[in-house]
Amino acid sequence: MRGLSIKHEVRIAAHGVSMPEKLDVVGERSALTCPDCGGALWRMRDDRPLRYRCHKGHAFTGLSLEEGYENRAEEAMWAAIRAVHERVTIAKERMRWAERARNAVRPDWRPRVSKKPSI
Ligand SMILES: [Zn+2]
Repeated sequence: MRGLSIKHEVRIAAHGVSMPEKLDVVGERSALTCPDCGGALWRMRDDRPLRYRCHKGHAFTGLSLEEGYENRAEEAMWAAIRAVHERVTIAKERMRWAERARNAVRPDWRPRVSKKPSI
């Protein structure tokens, strides 16, 4: 049975993209997703070593899958940091643009300064 399973998996690997039904023959669908494409992952029945494969042909060992998730988490954090920086940058650009536009229309305009409330 093991030899048949490995031969089937080798055929899947040679083709790259595979139908989910073909992966069901050599593995069980897991609750995990592929760190490269986001697709579902199958845990291979022949699990020595522990291996996973998605229908697009990405293949992982337990360790390389963990590394893939680590890389994906780090990329997501850097994307979040870039988004915050870009939000600050665009807010400053919009403020400068608004000041230029306002000065072009009303050069004598100044922002209102609120008075201190009297006690
Ligand atoms: Zn994939």
